[in-house]
Amino acid sequence: SGQRKFFVGGNWKMNGDKASIDGIVSFMKGPLSPNTEVVVGCPQCYLMYTRQNMPDNVGVAAQNCYKSAKGAFTGEISPGMIKDLGCEWVILGHSERRHVFNEPDQLISEKVGHALESGMKVIPCIGEKLDEREGNRTEEVVFAQMKALLPNISDWSRVVIAYEPVWAIGTGKTATPDQAQEVHAKLRQWLRKNVNDQVADSTRIIYGGSVSPSNCEELAKKGDIDGFLVGGASLKPDFVKIINARG
Ligand code: PEP
Repeated sequence: SGQRKFFVGGNWKMNGDKASIDGIVSFMKGPLSPNTEVVVGCPQCYLMYTRQNMPDNVGVAAQNCYKSAKGAFTGEISPGMIKDLGCEWVILGHSERRHVFNEPDQLISEKVGHALESGMKVIPCIGEKLDEREGNRTEEVVFAQMKALLPNISDWSRVVIAYEPVWAIGTGKTATPDQAQEVHAKLRQWLRKNVNDQVADSTRIIYGGSVSPSNCEELAKKGDIDGFLVGGASLKPDFVKIINARG
């Protein structure tokens, strides 16, 4: 893991207003470990406000975007617009996009492709549902999600993969460090086989699903866990402990 900088993203989901963002901005002054790359994912209507107020060492991500630069797509936003606000990152294919809004693999893949072509950095999210894990289909599901992404990934250096088992998101039920490490190692093997050694060795694979100040240190010790995507806990001052989990 030495060549991969530890990465911690926050995902505010549909939470916050200007007053609460001011509070998050204050605790994000840290101090934050210089060894961690930090990004916060905020609602699209607050991207500009967040970028203007957040310290420079904290990246700002949109939580979604569309697969085209402009046009008749009412209600959507493009990577170009997000960049125009000074934000470099976008989270795509989050489990809530996949399962609440029924976004299919192909659409997510096209969004990732367009965001990368627009010069953005992308956090594509993958992960199995509870019935899939219980049916021993975890590997099959996450490999199929990776395969769908692959043809549209033009620059792996701007991709951070988030492995987020759906049963662990917002449930308080975290994958054990061993459970998460097992899937991360398989994903890295998949990259070695289907892309190349350089991409397998350098791509950050981060874990998401009920990461908290109390479980982050054990997870961060695992060799293939290169950071976290954090929902609920990213809204609270203890998020700084998660950012600093690897020291
Ligand atoms: C997420 O939103 O990606 C997430 C992992 O949420 P939580 O940390 O609340 O489980």
